[in-house]
Amino acid sequence: MDEQRGQGTATAEQRLAAQYAVAQVLAAGGPPGQAVPRILEALGDLLGWQFGALWRVDERGEVMQCTELWHAKGIPAIGFSSLTRNAVFRRGDGFPGLVWESEEPLWVDDLAGRIDLPRASVAARDGLRAGVATPVSLEGEITGVIEFFADTPRPRDDGLIDLIQAVGNQLGQFLVRREAEQRVHRSEARKTAIVNASLDAIITIDAAGRAVEWNPAAERMFGFDRSIALGRPIADLIVPGELRDRHQRGLADLLTGREPRLLGRRIELIAVRAGGERFPVEVAITQVDLPGPPLYTGHVRDITERVKAERAGRDLAAIVESSDDAILSKALDGTILTWNKGAEQLYGYTAEEAVGRPASVLAPPERADELPQILDSIRRGERVSQHETVRMRKDGSLVEVSLSVSPILGPYSQIVAASVIAHDITDRRRAEAQIAHLAFHDPLTGLPNRLMFQEHLDVALARAARGGLGVAVLFIDLDDFKLVNDSFGHEQGDRLLRDFGTRLRAVTRATDIVARQGGDEFLVLVPDLELSDGPGIEPRAMEVVQSIETKVRSVLDAPFSVAGSDVNLGLSIGVSIYPIDARDRHELLRNADTAMYIGKGRGRPSMHRESADARGRLATIQRLRRAIDRDELVLYHQPLVELATGNVMGVEALLRWNDPSIGTVTPADFIPLAEHSGLIEPITNWVIAAVCRQAREWEEQGYELLQSFNLPPSLWTPSMIARVIETARAEDVPTERLMIEITESTAMVQPGRVAQVLASIRSSGLRLAIDDFGSGYSSLSRLRQMPVETLKIDRSFVADLPDDSGAGAIVTTIIDLARSLGIRSLAEGIETEEQRRFLLDHGCELGQGFLLGRPAPAAELDVRPRTR
Ligand code: C2E
Ligand code: MG
Ligand code: MG
Repeated sequence: MDEQRGQGTATAEQRLAAQYAVAQVLAAGGPPGQAVPRILEALGDLLGWQFGALWRVDERGEVMQCTELWHAKGIPAIGFSSLTRNAVFRRGDGFPGLVWESEEPLWVDDLAGRIDLPRASVAARDGLRAGVATPVSLEGEITGVIEFFADTPRPRDDGLIDLIQAVGNQLGQFLVRREAEQRVHRSEARKTAIVNASLDAIITIDAAGRAVEWNPAAERMFGFDRSIALGRPIADLIVPGELRDRHQRGLADLLTGREPRLLGRRIELIAVRAGGERFPVEVAITQVDLPGPPLYTGHVRDITERVKAERAGRDLAAIVESSDDAILSKALDGTILTWNKGAEQLYGYTAEEAVGRPASVLAPPERADELPQILDSIRRGERVSQHETVRMRKDGSLVEVSLSVSPILGPYSQIVAASVIAHDITDRRRAEAQIAHLAFHDPLTGLPNRLMFQEHLDVALARAARGGLGVAVLFIDLDDFKLVNDSFGHEQGDRLLRDFGTRLRAVTRATDIVARQGGDEFLVLVPDLELSDGPGIEPRAMEVVQSIETKVRSVLDAPFSVAGSDVNLGLSIGVSIYPIDARDRHELLRNADTAMYIGKGRGRPSMHRESADARGRLATIQRLRRAIDRDELVLYHQPLVELATGNVMGVEALLRWNDPSIGTVTPADFIPLAEHSGLIEPITNWVIAAVCRQAREWEEQGYELLQSFNLPPSLWTPSMIARVIETARAEDVPTERLMIEITESTAMVQPGRVAQVLASIRSSGLRLAIDDFGSGYSSLSRLRQMPVETLKIDRSFVADLPDDSGAGAIVTTIIDLARSLGIRSLAEGIETEEQRRFLLDHGCELGQGFLLGRPAPAAELDVRPRTR
């Protein structure tokens, strides 16, 4: 061997042996990584060369790299080996590159000194001297280079070159084939992996309908293991019993080519699982393109969820269509995308008209800004919930709606559109308004109720407090309304109340609030009253309230029509003014209420004698109304006497009604009726005129008599005082000659009014007496503030004198009290001498009573001074 090697030439025997060895290696197969080094080794050993390498052109055909190398044992070619492994040569570079370029074998006798070859110096250092390289080509194209190196210089040996070249070409073919095989193998593995990983069941059947492929998804879907499924007819595995005939026919059609349409299409079928459960599947059948008998592959997908979703979708679509609400969707630029029946009904556009239009056609001009704002919210992923707004129909009319707008998400959860549900809230609004109205209004008259009145009052009071204004509350009560109700029925009563409410509204200003308190009671709120600057008395507010009161009273001028006949009713008014009479709402309402009740005379029910029946009382009222015109009223007078001297210092005017049908009626029988029916004012006017006339007569006759008369509580008003003063002036009677009698309670309520009344009484010189003193309740401090001249001690105390010690004590106390206040006492109802004596003894100055003189017409009175 050494010798042969030393010769550097290959013998024919060597060549044969080499080719045999190569053929053996190649026949043994195995991956190229094992085969190639063994071929290099066999060749090297046989030929006596110590280093061999295979270079291959890369896939892109740009460079060459060493893919396998071999070196003989004992050759320390570590440097050269690693250099070779890492070298990359282009065409024309280095040993392999030169071969690649020239496409010819290359022989170098001795590498030493070949500085043009990149690896030569390292090869020489590692002891390698001769080198040979031949192309490896396939079908005329160079795919690589085989090179060998020997540890001694060697002359060119063309036989050896041919041998290496032949082996190289064999190797090239082997490699190409192997790589192709590997590629196929890899792609097969990939395909299997894909089939196995598929979520779809992939089932291949042969022409007999037997399963020949059954992937893991099929195992999961149908519940049969691959081992069980393979070889069995799929009709038995996955086709429900009742559908097997159809399945067989279909398969037959497929095989005979009668039904080619089955191929390549998706069909929906019902399949069955191992456990018997049926479920919908989608199957796509393809024919497997392989030689041999036909095979079919079915890709089966479980569409249970999809079918459910589709059904849900259909249900939803049906719900959307049948909804009364407008349900629509719009793109993010506002273009309408879908439009249901409800939307057609609500907005008047058909789906055809609406879809594709901008949603802005639905917004009335004043709401135009709203849509971009809503879409902005949607873009931010926010929901707009129950947004109440106004929309415009196709015909231009407006409709109130509640909108719920939500983002619609695309497949990647991105916001792609907006869904809109619009609910018509016109009815709800109307109902709400109705409920609100009911809560705050009186259903009978439609006027605000007490609740709403109080709210208005609070607002008015707050405003008044801020602006230094006044607020008046008028408490109005229809007199004898109950009679109408009792006599004519509730329906008539209701009509009358409605009529009265309407009349009240008509005479008040729009800014006044007329409310029904309940029953026959009404309230009027007069806000924003101007108050004058002066302290204490606020005449301007008083005037306004007075005029309103007059107007309110005037609504009764015309009779009410009740059941076809005219009925005249009266009313009572109690007035309270903030900040004069009261400081807050409660006080204001309470004072107005009390004022009204006192005005009605309800504080003295004993004086109110009921007529036999309601109609009878109504008739009496009608007759009393006419009594003034018919001159049926007469003034009686009762002497007021100085107890010490018996001198008549004055008279009290006491009213009588000469009713032609009854005779003389005393005030107890008709004054309360008059107070109830609104007749008290004209009657009082008549009394004042008569009193003044009588006073002037006595004046003319030379008697300086004090003329006292009774003023009913409801007329304890500045205007009535003014009337008295005016009448006195007209009759030329000094006001000092007149004395007004008011009851205790009158003096105690309505302090605001009292202030003004008292002021005009003071300045005019009119005298003031408190009537029936002791029967009501009084405040001493209040008494002191009033210019009271005379206290009339109530008859009930006097009647029990002198025996009842209690009455005696009360009377004495009153007398002492009055004296301490600088007020004269006058005892009423003196009927006996004992009474007179007791009173005189206890310091009572004046007296009145049957003992001293009965009430009588002026003509019958003896008013001359007496001497005792
Ligand atoms: P009054 O103002 O307290 O008048 C006194 C009443 O006592 C009068 O009754 C009188 O007749 C009665 N009287 C006088 N002396 C005696 C006596 O010794 N014993 C008894 N038992 N009674 C005596 P009359 O006239 O029936 O008046 C009753 C009430 O009617 C008056 O009480 C007064 O409140 C009211 N009244 C009378 N005239 C008028 C009037 O013109 N206008 C108004 N608004 N009320 C009047
Ligand atoms: Mg009196
Ligand atoms: Mg009296």
